[in-house]
Amino acid sequence: MQLTDTHCHIHSTDYKLNPDEVIQAAAAAGVTRLICVGTDVEDSQLAVAFVQQRDACWASIGIHPHEAKRYVGDTAALEIFAGLAEKHKIIAIGEAGLDYHYNHSPKKEQQQILRFQLELARRHNLPVIFHVREAFGDFWPIYDEYRPNGVLHSFTASTAVLEEALKRGLYIGLNGIMTFTKEYDQLEMAKAVPLEKLLLETDAPYLTPAPYRGTICESKHVRTTAEFLSGLRGESLEDLAVSTTGNAVRLFGL
Ligand SMILES: [Zn+2]
Repeated sequence: MQLTDTHCHIHSTDYKLNPDEVIQAAAAAGVTRLICVGTDVEDSQLAVAFVQQRDACWASIGIHPHEAKRYVGDTAALEIFAGLAEKHKIIAIGEAGLDYHYNHSPKKEQQQILRFQLELARRHNLPVIFHVREAFGDFWPIYDEYRPNGVLHSFTASTAVLEEALKRGLYIGLNGIMTFTKEYDQLEMAKAVPLEKLLLETDAPYLTPAPYRGTICESKHVRTTAEFLSGLRGESLEDLAVSTTGNAVRLFGL
């Protein structure tokens, strides 16, 4: 069995577990490929360095919408960031997007930093890992100017938003939220994602799936979520693993 964690942060300075033990435990659970996702310039630099010597890992460089206000107008930092896209094993841009749930950065600045990353993705012909929360009304018009390949990570939106994403050929990233959500609509949405557009992820250290709530999330828990989705969607675990890993390999060129 070969599963893929398409979104984790085990390279980050504040990740509390030993990342090499996490990678080993993941492999033992059949999770053999991991994408380490950057959330700001420094964290993206860390992700780039982290994956160079680790065969199971690739990196995505990104500026999370929460961090946007730190970088608007900081051309020096943005140049350093753009330079990272040239590095070996960089397979995507993101997480990039809009988050109007927390609004840690003003909307206008989130949009500027999203556009900057969409242009970078276009220049390097890289897919994008999107973080979009309560902001699809503003997100789609910006997305449609660029239309890169990519994934809506940690997707929890409605089936109507799912249809908008599928119309554009985007992939859908599901994680541990599905194992503990109390929202019927989210489970209906999870059933409606076509297998050829589904990706699995953990978002470790966050969103630990049930029944491991209260512990630090690790990449091996992709398997927990896969088992849950296998039951929910009525597909064998093996089929889910083959398809979702195939999707990840295709989208990111792993
Ligand atoms: Zn994340």
